[in-house]
Amino acid sequence: MRSRSANRSGIVIRRRVTPAGDIIVSLLTPQGKVKAIARGGVRGALSSRLNLFHHVGVQLYQTPQADLATVQQAVLEGALPRLAEPERYAFAHLMAELADALFQEGEFSEQAFDLFAGALRGVSHQPDPEWVALVMSHKLLGLAGFVLQTGRCARCGAPDPAHPDPLGGQLLCGGCASLPAYPPASLDFLRNVVRRSVRVSMEHPVLEDERPALWRALERFVTVQVGNVQSWRQLVPHVAAAPA
Ligand SMILES: [Zn+2]
Repeated sequence: MRSRSANRSGIVIRRRVTPAGDIIVSLLTPQGKVKAIARGGVRGALSSRLNLFHHVGVQLYQTPQADLATVQQAVLEGALPRLAEPERYAFAHLMAELADALFQEGEFSEQAFDLFAGALRGVSHQPDPEWVALVMSHKLLGLAGFVLQTGRCARCGAPDPAHPDPLGGQLLCGGCASLPAYPPASLDFLRNVVRRSVRVSMEHPVLEDERPALWRALERFVTVQVGNVQSWRQLVPHVAAAPA
């Protein structure tokens, strides 16, 4: 295998600085997820460009010996400054963690990139970033093949379950459930969000006091189905404070 360089354009979904001052980033690009290292990057001009949520164009250099491609250049192609607002930042971080867990390196997915980029724009611009994050989390999960089973009780298989499933984040029938049924709007959301357009979902937000239950279910569903998202738990609102 020869050494080679490649140009990629993508969004920084993970950024870690090593003790040696290197920056290791994961980018979500239309060609899939890419992980790369900017050696000594923390002391140079790359540092401010390779920030979380920045859309960057990078020149990568891959040698057969190294695991990670090296970032040789990076240019800022787009940024969403409002994501720095604390509430928006938390939801953007949540989306980035989820995307990082859902999409693997080498998997080509222009659709995943477009959906994630749209999620970040929505969290940045919409007046209700929490609702954007709930809708887009389910859309990203659906794209990756993780869809809530809403037709049958997750425990006994009875049709039309309507109650929360505190263990798996799915739905339970009245006979299996220990919690009261979801209110109609929440149930409609859970049953339809994946196939409904984002636009329609955004026009019909679930009331704020129904959302904690939806977040708890989403956190359970992601933990059980996707796994490997330890930091996600702390990011999910209404879950971090609850006992494990
Ligand atoms: Zn049941």
